[in-house]
Amino acid sequence: MLTLYTPATGFLDLETKIAYGLARIGIEAFGCESVSIKDEGGFYAIDFNVDESNESNRDKVEKTFNLFCRRLVSSNQILNNSPGITSRSAERLLKLLKEENYKLLSLTRKPVLHKQNMKNENICQHEFNGTGNIIGFTAFTSYHHGRDVINTDTVTGGVPRRPTNPKKICIQCALLSLLGTWFASFIFKIKTRDVVVLPIPQNKVEGEKLLQIFSLQHRIRKMWFNWEIPQVLIPLLFLSKLPSAADILNDFELFIAVLSRQQGYHVDGVFLIPINNYLNFIQATPYNIAVLEILFKNEAYGALQALNSLIYHLDATLVGRFVRLYAQETSFKWGNKVNLLYPETAKYLLKEVGMIRHDIITNPALRSVVNTLRYFVRQSKYWYVDNIRNAKRDARDFETTLSKMMREGWLRKTQGENIHVPREKDIQELFRLAEEDFESTKLALAILAFSFKDKTEETVENIKEV
Ligand SMILES: [Zn+2]
Repeated sequence: MLTLYTPATGFLDLETKIAYGLARIGIEAFGCESVSIKDEGGFYAIDFNVDESNESNRDKVEKTFNLFCRRLVSSNQILNNSPGITSRSAERLLKLLKEENYKLLSLTRKPVLHKQNMKNENICQHEFNGTGNIIGFTAFTSYHHGRDVINTDTVTGGVPRRPTNPKKICIQCALLSLLGTWFASFIFKIKTRDVVVLPIPQNKVEGEKLLQIFSLQHRIRKMWFNWEIPQVLIPLLFLSKLPSAADILNDFELFIAVLSRQQGYHVDGVFLIPINNYLNFIQATPYNIAVLEILFKNEAYGALQALNSLIYHLDATLVGRFVRLYAQETSFKWGNKVNLLYPETAKYLLKEVGMIRHDIITNPALRSVVNTLRYFVRQSKYWYVDNIRNAKRDARDFETTLSKMMREGWLRKTQGENIHVPREKDIQELFRLAEEDFESTKLALAILAFSFKDKTEETVENIKEV
């Protein structure tokens, strides 16, 4: 086994990029079956499953690396298209990259953790020539602007500048990190900002999976979203554009850096997020992806933020708010019609987030009341469902609201409107359900009232007609 190590610089994104760069070289040299990446806690070990003592294998590693280097420095194409690298630093880098005599097998020694870093030495502790602070390698070398409401601008000659934390990195690690960025990261634009998304391995990753990631990233590179979306929604936006990635990205966390340009690059945000809950939402049904598309298209950021939190934290208390905002924020572009949720998405919210019992969801009495509530919702009359959603158990709001709704229902019916009014028996049954599980009953009513009819409901109605 031939094992190479990332240098344990303390910068998660840099380590991961170098690991991907090394893995890419291994795949090129020995095929994807022979390569894997393993998280060693602070650095990565990249295994090439070949005989280490065999001179020709060692040769092959160096040769492949040098080939990649030559390709990479043959033009400034890659450097100029890497966010975080300005054209001035690209030029300087290109010159340095051409001069160095690389030795990849210098990385076969395990790095030392917790080492002190002197100001003038490379953070990777390699003895190759170094290059200065470049955000493109690691977003952590720039301070967050306005983080924690503290403005970090310094003023130089009347121009506000965001300070950076200058670090030096050896030119070989810089090159590997560029390879990693180029092969494994997802780069797109949101308005004027560059977003770099890097999948961070949580377990051992085999070559086959690495190849899938390497091929996936081409699908999103250079995508451009021309809206100013809140940063917290970037993971959801990103994953909604890659629904087929769910299986591939299952064991990864996402590292996301948002960069802006203003006399050089600045880091506007850095996140590291677990994505399994997002993936569950996206994988559950294609309707969930459609819901995301509708929300982003309508710039429904209130609903999106509620949805984002409820998916991320599986927080049932936000579901009622989300369904309400969904109707409100996605409807106006539909003429006068109120837009409702797909039944499949409603089912996901009821079961996976609300954890509501099946017998409550399918209860015919509850469905009968939903039918009436939805009638009012579709006329933008949210008063009843809002009151039910916000009802407190002891305050009897629930009961009062329902009797008011019944009264208006009957009145409208006598005036000739085609409105379904629940039977008194159904109302009593609903009170019994609420007695048993108040929160679930309320939530089920709200979610279903804001959703299109599903098949269960139609069957319930048909039975009643008979
Ligand atoms: Zn280095």
